[in-house]
Amino acid sequence: MLIVQKFGGTSVGDLERIQNVASRVSQSKKDGNDVVVVVSAMSGETNKLVAYAEHFSKNPAQPEMDMLLSAGERVTASLLSIALQEMGHDATAMTGRKAGIITDKHHTKARIENINPKMMTDAVKSGKIVVVAGFQGVDENGDVTTLGRGGSDLSAVAIAGALGADLCEIYTDVSGIYTTDPRIEPKAKKLDKISYDEMLELASLGAKVLQNRSVEMAKKLNVNLVTRTSFSNEEGTLITKEENIMEAPLVSGIALDRNQARISLMGVKDRPGIASDIFNRLATEEVNVDMIIQNKAHDGATNIDFTVPVSDLYDAKAVVDAFVQNKEIDADSYNEEICKVSVVGVGMRSHTGVAAKAFSTMADNNININMISTSEIKISMVIDEKYAELAVRALHDAYELDK
Ligand code: ADP
Ligand code: ASP
Ligand code: MG
Repeated sequence: MLIVQKFGGTSVGDLERIQNVASRVSQSKKDGNDVVVVVSAMSGETNKLVAYAEHFSKNPAQPEMDMLLSAGERVTASLLSIALQEMGHDATAMTGRKAGIITDKHHTKARIENINPKMMTDAVKSGKIVVVAGFQGVDENGDVTTLGRGGSDLSAVAIAGALGADLCEIYTDVSGIYTTDPRIEPKAKKLDKISYDEMLELASLGAKVLQNRSVEMAKKLNVNLVTRTSFSNEEGTLITKEENIMEAPLVSGIALDRNQARISLMGVKDRPGIASDIFNRLATEEVNVDMIIQNKAHDGATNIDFTVPVSDLYDAKAVVDAFVQNKEIDADSYNEEICKVSVVGVGMRSHTGVAAKAFSTMADNNININMISTSEIKISMVIDEKYAELAVRALHDAYELDK
């Protein structure tokens, strides 16, 4: 078998853990597999590098940020390769460039456009263990790019797809995908299987156990994806096609996203095209708008509220302020003390009353719902951040996910 194994930050968090990863990889190789390893930076390392840059500038240049951030993964790839060599293996460490990962030019959130896997395949063919630095690629000019936070997951899935690997294993600090973050609800249950679509919703709605774009890519390329822990031999969770799951549960999980901010626009001039103007400007600035609510304020004006990731707030403010200056909006305000809780499950498609239960659960716990959005397989609610954990636990209980 050809296996791609990805080890996240905590799994390579110190030298002892890198040694542990080397033993695991070594065992897979001894079992007769071809192994390509993708590593993250040691846990905390990427944040440390970001903080270093912010020491000098509030808004550091993006190409420099990418050169800086990509360094963390190079450290672990080199160390793991050295550890494997010391154990008698023929191992080789590769940067994103050497692994042939070509991206667009979008520094700090680049998309993979193409992978030239020749260096990797040649090395694997000659019996080597390939250790790739995750989270990075190069654009057509040869400039280093990074794939967005959590992007090593995407590196692993894309490499598995390009190599036609039989399996892509994501090793992390929890033993699989749970019904909700086990750090918030200790009664959360590990799932044996989950569909790509549900996992994509959970990841997009805040369950950072997998980066959402990696799940999207796994679905597109039909990669067999397993999430498991590097700290024991416990079986993990298979992320697979919906057809492979015999009985779809009504609700699979609860996700929490604390990194949301709410923007309120008061007295927006009520004319055709105003919403289009505002949201097109936001789109041009790459601001990721999520929920939107519009209601009548007074004659000739409306109020519009919407949410954005906290990381986009700075850019969103600049856009909105320009409309205020042009007197198309009377006033604006911002609230970062909010969060989004979501209930996800493909079973919702064929059942009624799932949303009603979410709302009454909030009511029973005296939690005010500020915004709501739904799709076929999810219900999301914006609430005050101080109720985040209470809401997750209450919903987990209400849908009996611990059973
Ligand atoms: P890594 O460093 O290995 O990439 P991450 O910190 O990115 O690991 O992701 C693992 C974390 O995801 C877990 O420690 C857990 O707190 C969190 N998490 C959030 N939602 C879930 C979920 N539904 N199931 C499992 N883990 C979850
Ligand atoms: N080191 C990067 C981050 O912390 C990428 C990753 O770990 O997946 O976001
Ligand atoms: Mg991660």
